[in-house]
Amino acid sequence: MIKSLLIANRGEIACRIIRTAKVLGIRTVAVYSDADANARHVREADEAVHVGPSASAESYLVGAKIIAAAKATGAEAIHPGYGFLSENAEFAQSVIDAGLVWVGPRPASITAMGLKDAAKQRMSAAGVPVTPGYMGENQDPEFLGQQAAKIGYPVLIKAVAGGGGKGMRMVEAPADFADALASCQREARASFGNAHVLIEKYIQRPRHIEVQVFGDTHGNIVHLFERDCSLQRRHQKVIEEAPAPGMDAATREAICAAAVKAAAAVDYVGAGTIEFIADGSEGLRADRIWFMEMNTRLQVEHPVTEEITGVDLVEWQFRVASGEPLPKRQDELSITGWAVEARLYAEDVAAGFLPSTGPLTHFDLAPGAGGRIETGVRQGGRISPFYDPMIAKLVAKGGNRAEAIERLAAMCEQVQCWPVKCNAQFLANLLGQPDFAAGDVDTGLIARELESLTPATQPSDLALQSVARAVVEGGSPLPTHSPWRGLRGLRANSPARPTTLRLTDGRHDLEVVLDEARDSLPVSLEADGYLVCERGNSFVLNPARTDGGAHGPAASGTILSPMPGKIIAVDVVNGQTVTKGQKLVTLEAMKMEHGLTAPFDGTVADLAAKSGGQVSEGMVLLRIEPVE
Ligand code: ADP
Ligand code: ADP
Ligand code: MG
Repeated sequence: MIKSLLIANRGEIACRIIRTAKVLGIRTVAVYSDADANARHVREADEAVHVGPSASAESYLVGAKIIAAAKATGAEAIHPGYGFLSENAEFAQSVIDAGLVWVGPRPASITAMGLKDAAKQRMSAAGVPVTPGYMGENQDPEFLGQQAAKIGYPVLIKAVAGGGGKGMRMVEAPADFADALASCQREARASFGNAHVLIEKYIQRPRHIEVQVFGDTHGNIVHLFERDCSLQRRHQKVIEEAPAPGMDAATREAICAAAVKAAAAVDYVGAGTIEFIADGSEGLRADRIWFMEMNTRLQVEHPVTEEITGVDLVEWQFRVASGEPLPKRQDELSITGWAVEARLYAEDVAAGFLPSTGPLTHFDLAPGAGGRIETGVRQGGRISPFYDPMIAKLVAKGGNRAEAIERLAAMCEQVQCWPVKCNAQFLANLLGQPDFAAGDVDTGLIARELESLTPATQPSDLALQSVARAVVEGGSPLPTHSPWRGLRGLRANSPARPTTLRLTDGRHDLEVVLDEARDSLPVSLEADGYLVCERGNSFVLNPARTDGGAHGPAASGTILSPMPGKIIAVDVVNGQTVTKGQKLVTLEAMKMEHGLTAPFDGTVADLAAKSGGQVSEGMVLLRIEPVE
C-alpha cells in the first residue's frame, strides 16, 4: 500500500480523499493557490505546498508544479480528484514518468475516452449501444446539416472535447441548425480549444443513467450498479441517486454488463463511470439506453454508490493503485437501501442562479439521521470567485427511496449559509416536487418546473416574530440606526412595549403583530441587520425606516459585475428601451455563463461593457434609467 499521497485538487473532493487516506495511515500532502491559503483541505492535510496564484490555470492546472510539489515532499503517489488534471492523459503520463504512482486509469484509457466522438466509435466497435448520430471527421456545416436531417430533429450538437455540461446545443428545427452550430463551435473553441462537434439524436424524455465501474491491474473489472442523475440544470447535475428509480433487475443486468464491456474495451484500471442516456418515455428499457461518454475518474456523485454498496471507493482506488486486486468480486457486491445526494451551490437562485461569493460568516450543516456531509469549506471561510461554486454535497441514506428523500430534504432545510447565498431551499423544493417524489424524472424536469421550484420567499410568521422579539427585547446590542434604540431602557419595567412593529428586508416592509412568546428561531445581529435562517434560506431584517425612502440595490439601475469574469455578449445598445427581466449582458464566471437582466423597465445608458472584455467585481457595466 502506498504510504504518502499528494492530492492535486481542492475543496470537498480533496477533503474526501484526505479522510480515507487518514484511515489507511497514508500521509497526505495538499496543494493550494493564493486564494486557498486558509482552505479546509490545507488544514486537514499533513502538509501543504503553495503552487501559485489563485487562477487555476496558474496553480492547480500546472502539472509541472504539482509534480515538483510531490517530489519536494517525498509523496509517493498523486490523486487528481475530479475536474482539473484528472482527465489529462499527458499529466498522468508525466506523473508516471516522474516515478510516482498515478491514482487513476492508464493514460491510454483516458485518451481513448477523452474525445466523445472517438469514444463513441470505439464503444460502437466493442458492441456497446451508442446514442445514434454522426461522429465523423467531416465538419463542413452543410454536411453536418444534412446529417442532422438524416438523424431527425430534435438533435443535439456536442463539442467532442466538451465537459461539465458546456459546448452543447439542442436544435429543434432545421432553420435553427446553422446558428446553433456556429455558436456551439465558438463556445467549444473558446472553452476546450477544439471546435470539433458531433451530432446526436436528442433523446425524448431523457434520463441520465450511469454505471460505476472499477478495474484492477490484474484484469478484473466489476460494476457497482447504477446512479440516476437526471435532475439537471443546464446539463449539470443537481440531485443524484442510487439505485435508479424504476430500474428492474433485467434492465440493470443489461446496462451494467454494457458498462463492464465498455470499460474492458479500454483495459480500464481504477474508478470510472460509464454515462448512458435513456429514453424514459416508456420506463427504463434495455433497448432504449445508449452509451453517452465515459468519465475516467472518480465522480462527484460517487458517495451515493458508496452508501448503497458499503464500499469506500477512494480506498479501492488506493488499493488498485498499489497493485492489489479488487477487494470484492462481482457476486460479493449488492445494493442495500437507497441514497440521494444534493449539490449545495453558492448561488443566488432568485437572481437566476448567479454564483454568490464572499465570506461564510454563518455556515452550518447538520447531518441528521442517515445523513452524510462532504464539504471543503467551513464557517469563517470564504467562497472565492476563482473556482466551482459547489460548496458541499449533502447525502442521505434510507431504507427506501422515500425515506432517503425525506432525510435529505430535512438536511437541506437545516442549512444555514450567510451572507453567501446558496441553493438549499431550491434543493428542498426539488426533493418535494411531486414528479420527483414519484420517481418520474427526466433531464427536463427542473426547467419545466422552474417557476414552482423557485417561488419568491418571504420569512415566515415565526421568523418575523423571532426577529421582532429580538429587536424589542434586545439581548444583543442594537445597530446604531435602529429606531428602537431609545426603547431599550424602557424594556425592563415598562408595559409600553410595542405590540406591532414594521420590519423590512430592504425591499418590502412587513408588519408584525407581536404574539405572546412561543417558539423562536435563533436570531443573530450582523453588521447589516438581524439574521434569521429557516428552511435553507436566510433573511436579514431591520426595523423599517419611517421616512419611506427607497433603499436597497433594487432601487438603483446601475448594473455592476457581480464577480470577476469575462463579458461574452452584450445584448443591448445605449438608448435602447428594455423591460424588466430582459437580458442585458452575458458574463462568464466560475465556469458558467450568467445573464444579467434589467431590474425594471427603462432605457440603457452609460454602456461600458464590451464583448470579450475582462471585468472585475463591482465594475459598472451599464445603467438603466427608469421610465418616468
Ligand atoms: P460529474 O458528473 O462528476 O459532475 P462533470 O462533467 O460535471 O462530472 O465534471 C466534474 C467536475 O469537473 C466539475 O467540477 C466540472 O466543473 C469539472 N469539469 C468537467 N469537465 C471539465 C472541462 N472540460 N473543463 C473544466 N472543468 C471541467
Ligand atoms: P458532459 O461531458 O458535459 O457531461 P454529456 O455528453 O455527458 O456531456 O452530456 C451531459 C448531459 O446532457 C447529459 O447528462 C444529458 O442530460 C444531456 N444529454 C447528452 N446527450 C443527450 C442526448 N443525446 N439526448 C438528450 N440529452 C442528452
Ligand atoms: Mg457527462
